Amino acid sequence: MIITKIEYEILVWPELNPQFWMSLLPVNRPHELIVKVHTDEGVVGIGHTDQIPGIYRIDSSGKPSPNAASRILPDLIEPLLIGKDAGDIESRWNDMFGVTFQRRWNRNGWTRGQLMAVIAAIDMALWEIAAKRVEKPVYQFIGGSENAIRCYMAGGYYREGKTIEHLRREMEVFRRQGFTAVKMRVGGDSLDVDLERVAVAREALGPDVWLMLDANEAYESNDGIEAAKAFAAHDIFWFEEPARWYEGSSVWKRVAEEGGIAVAGGEQAAARWEASDLVESGAISYMEFDGMRTGGPSEWLKVAAICEKAGIPMVPHHGPLIHAHLVSAVSNGLMVEVFPNPAEYGPEDELEFTRWDRKYEMFSSYPEIVEGSLILPDTPGWGFELDEDAVGRLRVGQ
Ligand SMILES: [Mg+2]
Repeated sequence: MIITKIEYEILVWPELNPQFWMSLLPVNRPHELIVKVHTDEGVVGIGHTDQIPGIYRIDSSGKPSPNAASRILPDLIEPLLIGKDAGDIESRWNDMFGVTFQRRWNRNGWTRGQLMAVIAAIDMALWEIAAKRVEKPVYQFIGGSENAIRCYMAGGYYREGKTIEHLRREMEVFRRQGFTAVKMRVGGDSLDVDLERVAVAREALGPDVWLMLDANEAYESNDGIEAAKAFAAHDIFWFEEPARWYEGSSVWKRVAEEGGIAVAGGEQAAARWEASDLVESGAISYMEFDGMRTGGPSEWLKVAAICEKAGIPMVPHHGPLIHAHLVSAVSNGLMVEVFPNPAEYGPEDELEFTRWDRKYEMFSSYPEIVEGSLILPDTPGWGFELDEDAVGRLRVGQ
């Protein structure tokens, strides 16, 4: 099957109001790159990636419009793909990856991170084409059989005016829905306040739900160790990115050993080499490599193989509609990260919606989450359809 055409859309959602926070960083305005790869046999594959810095800008009238990074696909990547075999995914990936170590990659100020995100979206589309061609869901095409994939709910963000009671109710909603694992943020307030938040979350979730903490690099490592020791009393499943960016992941091992909580990380690893460093240095016990944001399913599967050898489970960051297929297909797949779907909650739930939450809007159909598991459908491909009306509403001009 020959690649004949590539379409793309850049979607930008309205500014988040109120503003939500991780420990130190605001939750960005949601945006997305969607690609559609067409073939000469009429099979079309869809891929998507999010949060590419510099793909849009806000113009003087306050409206989003495409920015320099929006040209990576048509100017740099598309010419490598047109007329080539869509089924030879490894070659297509290597052709695209090759750009990241050639002169031309940065001619417009583009970054490797932006390139790896575009590669991820195209790679996703190629895997969908391959699976659709034999009329299989991707997870079956790549060797999986389990269709109910355990999810963890990501919540517990900081927000101006959010009280401890808001947090309690949020956690109670997640528990009532049947989630068996939930993640919350720490490191954005004093340790005393965060300890109270964690205690309330544990109380609301009960003893059997896994509770994970994400520090988003907030702590200096010694503070991270002290925080871990204090949080450990609340039976914490993992402590994510526990130390500041400048200290690097090498200190995570110390945080785990001295603080007494297993560490998760890898959402910022660009490719298998960085992911492998995290594994070999003993920095992590859970791997969060994000194949939606960098490298695509091809790279994710290679990272999973590296981790399998070290006995490290895969718990990919974001991108549940893609990652659930991959988790199904590897023996060390543990669970995927999901976000509350605004369509499933009423005002009585008082739930807050941040970033990924809003992106359910761009799909007209997607897998259901039942009792804390994402149920992969039997339909060929990734199992989601784009809502073209929503895409039309959210797209920025090209
Ligand atoms: Mg994280």
